[in-house]
Amino acid sequence: MESTLIKVLVLALVVSGLVKLTVVGLGWGLWRTRWAERWRVYRRALAPGQLRSEAWAAAGVIVCDALLVWLFRYFYGPRLAPFSVPVALLTYAWMYVGFEVWFYVTHRLLHTPLLYRFHAQHHVAQVTDPLTSLSFSLVERVVLIGGSIGLLLLAMEVMPVTNAGIMAYLLTNYLLNVLGHSNTEWFPTGFVSSWVGRLFLTPTFHAMHHARYKGHYGLFTTMLDRWFGTTFPDYPRVHARARAGEGLVRIGEWLPADPVPEALAATPSQSKAA
Ligand SMILES: [Zn+2]
Ligand SMILES: [Zn+2]
Repeated sequence: MESTLIKVLVLALVVSGLVKLTVVGLGWGLWRTRWAERWRVYRRALAPGQLRSEAWAAAGVIVCDALLVWLFRYFYGPRLAPFSVPVALLTYAWMYVGFEVWFYVTHRLLHTPLLYRFHAQHHVAQVTDPLTSLSFSLVERVVLIGGSIGLLLLAMEVMPVTNAGIMAYLLTNYLLNVLGHSNTEWFPTGFVSSWVGRLFLTPTFHAMHHARYKGHYGLFTTMLDRWFGTTFPDYPRVHARARAGEGLVRIGEWLPADPVPEALAATPSQSKAA
C-alpha cells in the first residue's frame, strides 16, 4: 500500500515536471526565433540573475504541484466520473471560467501591500520570458492550485467531473501561460479590437502587468479587468507598437492617447509664420 502511494507520488512528480518543462522548452524555442525578436513587447534584456531565480522557483513549483495533484487524486480520485465527451467539456468549461475568477481575485489581493511578499517571486520578471510562467512562491502556488482543487470539489457536489477535462484544462493553462509570458506579440494588429481580442488577452496585455505592477490582473481573458476598470488605456497602442517591431524600450514608458495631429501641434507663432 505504502509503496503504491510512493510510486503514484513519483509518477505525479515525473509527469508534472515533464509536461511543464516540455511546454516551457517549446516556448523557449519560439522565443528565440527572429520573429519573436522582432515582435518583442519590451525591447529590454532580462535582469541579471532573473533566470536563475526563476529556475529555482520553477523547481519548487514542480514539486508543489505534484504533491497537491497526488493528494487530490488520493482523496478524491475515486469520486471522478468515467470519461465521456460531454462531461469532459463541462469539466473543462467549469475550470476555465472558475479559474479566471479565482485568479483575478487572488491576484488583486496579492498586489496589496500586506500580501505582495508572496507574489514578489513572480515579479522578479519586469520583462518576462517563458520560464516566468513557472516562477511563483510556494505560498502563491498553493493558493492557485488549492483554488483549482476547491473548484473541482465544488463542482463535484453538483455535476460529474472527469479526469480528461481536468487534464485538458491544465494543459491549456500551461500553454497559454508560456505564451502570455513570452514578451512577444504573436497576434496581428487588428486582434485587440476584434471580438476575440476583446474577450481574450494577448502577451502584450500581460507584459504590461509585469512592467507596471498594477492593472491587467486577468489570467487569459480581459472581461474582469474591463468590468473592474483595471485595463491600461494605452494597451492597443502598445500592442500595435510591438507588432510594428517598435516595442517599448523603457519600463516606465506609457503611450499617450492619440498623437496630436501635426497641424495642431504647431505653436501659434509657428502657425502665423506659416
Ligand atoms: Zn505573469
Ligand atoms: Zn502580479
